[in-house]
Amino acid sequence: MIIVTEKSSSLPVKNYLQDLKPCAHGGLIRKSSQNYGIPESEILDASASLNPFGTPFDHKWSQLNLDVLLAKGLEKLEQYPDNRYLEYRKAAAVFIGMGMTYENIVPGNGSTEIIRLVAECVINEGDMVLIPRPTFSEYEMQCKVMGASIKYIDQEDILDPDDKLLDEAKMIFVCNPNNPTGKLLLKEDIDSLAKKCASHDTILFVDEAFIELADPEQSVAYLVEGNDYLFIQRSLTKAFAIPGIRMGFGVASKNFACVLNNARLSWNMGCIADIVATALLSMEGGVNSQYLRESRAFITKERQFLMDKLSRRGFKPFESSVNYIYVDISSLPLDSSELSQRMASKGVLIRDCSSFQNIGKDYIRIAVRNREENERIAATIRTVIYEWGREQAKIQLEENITTASKCGRMGSNKECAYYPCHFEGQDCTFCFCPFYPCEDERTGGTWVESSSGGQVWSCLDCDVMHQEDVVDDLLSVFTREGLNEKSVKKAWNEVVESKL
Ligand code: SF4
Repeated sequence: MIIVTEKSSSLPVKNYLQDLKPCAHGGLIRKSSQNYGIPESEILDASASLNPFGTPFDHKWSQLNLDVLLAKGLEKLEQYPDNRYLEYRKAAAVFIGMGMTYENIVPGNGSTEIIRLVAECVINEGDMVLIPRPTFSEYEMQCKVMGASIKYIDQEDILDPDDKLLDEAKMIFVCNPNNPTGKLLLKEDIDSLAKKCASHDTILFVDEAFIELADPEQSVAYLVEGNDYLFIQRSLTKAFAIPGIRMGFGVASKNFACVLNNARLSWNMGCIADIVATALLSMEGGVNSQYLRESRAFITKERQFLMDKLSRRGFKPFESSVNYIYVDISSLPLDSSELSQRMASKGVLIRDCSSFQNIGKDYIRIAVRNREENERIAATIRTVIYEWGREQAKIQLEENITTASKCGRMGSNKECAYYPCHFEGQDCTFCFCPFYPCEDERTGGTWVESSSGGQVWSCLDCDVMHQEDVVDDLLSVFTREGLNEKSVKKAWNEVVESKL
């Protein structure tokens, strides 16, 4: 029997969890497919920042065979995993090098579980946690579950937080390279911050989930021995493009790692994840394996290609060190939610960054993909902006026709910054032309190269739509018949055609 109670503050959960909101993430392929009726296979997900070079299993020379590994894992299906995860931890220690041993490694079922484990072990209800925004949303989510109070600081202030603030803070999170901005901090800078935090008994949690795809030389894992106030997080999800199998690990001093390993959920990684992750981390060369070196080179090349495509009117992409690009769209008339929804309706998912610590709706994040996919992202942005522009033009045109049908044609709009865009004395009623793009060069219109690539119809040399008599004749058609496909055809044939 299920007892359904009204949502009340007396739910049997900790008070501070009553209004906990779920964390927003990208990768909403199924939801978008359902929302827009696009088969999942045709959806391009540029909202989840996975290695665009594919998985190592896609590259024969990696000598890794997924079927073999899955079979090996399934052989252990009927036994509990060895909760020490020694093979995995040894492989992780060798993978990052820097003098680490398996005793420094804490295995985890992906990033979120590791963040939760550290929060569980260090946060007491009411402790204050410092979060530099914008950044990965799971830090505050997991700390809130433990009853922490969250204090935001700006990313710019991350390397030199106020001493008084650090005195109050139990923990501070640094994502490096940062998600969603893509900015990579240098190890020397994090080294000084780590020392400062330790001197204030504040734990520095450094999330290096993307560092293999940026510059692993900037990892500060080498600092953990001798600093019990430092924790490094690593993930296999992004670097090896396998988010479906949850695999990650933490790096800490032997003392700190020992406590975390004792406190972590028993058997927190399944047999498949254990086997597959150990094999991935054991590829020759570790963070400098052929797969990861070629991945970084591929990302650098494709990121530059996408940056060039995104550097268009209304888009200000930030310099990035990794496989995603943070874009300021504050000068675009569409906000991040509308833009990402319109892109999703075309089967291309991008990340609306308004869910990152309430930073507003002026930012999007786009994952770098392969050339063909990056072309599709750029083309879809062009289409979405063009269609939005056409919708606005239609709205404005309908308004102009409604006004003109009451008050007569608009005349010369001398207030307009672009007046006269055609000729002195021009009539501006049809600033937005009902026939656009007429593709009829007799008008003076022509196809030109657009700044964002591709061709666009230019009306710069078309005067016919701004001649008073033409405007009057067109208005009489549209006032009588309304503005629709049929009336537009009629107006062209009856009014414009004779003028060409
Ligand atoms: S060229 Fe003239 S008629 Fe053709 S779409 Fe442009 S403004 Fe309209």
